Amino acid sequence: MAEPNGINERQRELFIRKSTRVAASYLKRAKALSEMPDAAKPFFDVLENIYIKLTDIQKPEDMKSIGTLCVMVPAELIYAAGAMPVRLCSGSYTAYSIGDDYIPRDACPLVKAVMGFAKVGALPAFDNCTMLVAPVTCDCKKKLAGVMDSVKNFSRKNTVPLHVPPLKKDDADTEVFLKELYRLIPILEKETGVQITARSLAEGINMVGNAQYEMSEFLKFRRHDPALISGTQVMAVMNAYSYMPVNLWAEQMHRLNGDMIRRLEQGHFVSRKNQPRILVTGSPIAFPNIKIPLLIEEMGGVLAADETCMGERGLYDPVSVIDPSFDGMMRALASRYIKPCTCPVFVDNSQRIYRIQQLIKEHKIQGVIYHVLRGCLVYDYEYQLMEEAMGKLDIPIIRVESDYNEEDVEQLRIRIEAFIELIKLKELKKEA
Ligand code: SF4
Ligand code: SF4
Repeated sequence: MAEPNGINERQRELFIRKSTRVAASYLKRAKALSEMPDAAKPFFDVLENIYIKLTDIQKPEDMKSIGTLCVMVPAELIYAAGAMPVRLCSGSYTAYSIGDDYIPRDACPLVKAVMGFAKVGALPAFDNCTMLVAPVTCDCKKKLAGVMDSVKNFSRKNTVPLHVPPLKKDDADTEVFLKELYRLIPILEKETGVQITARSLAEGINMVGNAQYEMSEFLKFRRHDPALISGTQVMAVMNAYSYMPVNLWAEQMHRLNGDMIRRLEQGHFVSRKNQPRILVTGSPIAFPNIKIPLLIEEMGGVLAADETCMGERGLYDPVSVIDPSFDGMMRALASRYIKPCTCPVFVDNSQRIYRIQQLIKEHKIQGVIYHVLRGCLVYDYEYQLMEEAMGKLDIPIIRVESDYNEEDVEQLRIRIEAFIELIKLKELKKEA
């Protein structure tokens, strides 16, 4: 029998079989890279529950899920309304192949995967979101926000576009975003039936702040050379943030930091001193599309840092509240989500180069892999600037373009392997 979105039961079954198989194989490869710290396992369990066992998010029953499509949606505001933000940016190849029929050919695979899941209705964590907050950032996200309303089997009642200013230099730009956040408040309150007060907002800021604190502690361990944990496993931990209530994620992160201390004391490392240390930056690396991190580490590199919005960027800067009034907290939120954001959707994004230079120094990076999802123009635009900046630092960089399928894996493997060999050769010459 045909379903509302033209997907019948047989197609849905095939979809589930294929998408769970792909997710399981990527999780297995990530686990096999090196012995996982015990405290990393619950994050993997979360990804397994969401993408393989197809269960909903584990959270209090009365806590609603609000879908978001970008790190620029303030999680603090959603927690203040008694709900949980669920980041719907997905890396599913199977969902992408469904979404490909509904979204223009040249759009990026990430938005196609979001559309594919909405059409099939096979992912409870996705389907149970009662509302979607969609920041208007790049063209792909803007148009996705428009077409998502046409999808019928998604329990979401409405999609709320959130205007993001194209500039972020002046206070006037932050004011634009502040107005948007104020516009969002009654919409969230109506959706959840919970009023956002100064107290609940402060609680929301504290909850996310705790997670950011644990993350900043964790980054100290991630910088360690030799590595204490595989970088691909770190990407999985960061992706699990999208599907866990923030306090549970922070508690588990605290345990992971405990494991990192123990590994440091015992000299338990997962890399050797001379393995090339690589930073990955560019288009989002959303689970299960972790093929780039996996290839880096399977080919002998160490993924020592990332500058991506499904990784460190999402939890890097805490909200800095100077004025504790309601408006003061709202201003602090607007400022935090716009000013330090290094996403290339902003016209002037020189901060991103500065941030990458900082990461290179702190994480002892020897090479940069610049990831561009096919059709992701905003990241592609910034490659040239990044190449020039890396040239000045004498840091090798390569641009790798990928799509949501496994057809490009062999070509990527060859290029990444050659890049790792190049770094090794360069380091040998330095020593000679
Ligand atoms: S790449 Fe930029 S616009 Fe896209 S989700 Fe990440 S932060 Fe948002
Ligand atoms: S920023 Fe790139 S990856 Fe993200 S939605 Fe836009 S085009 Fe797609």
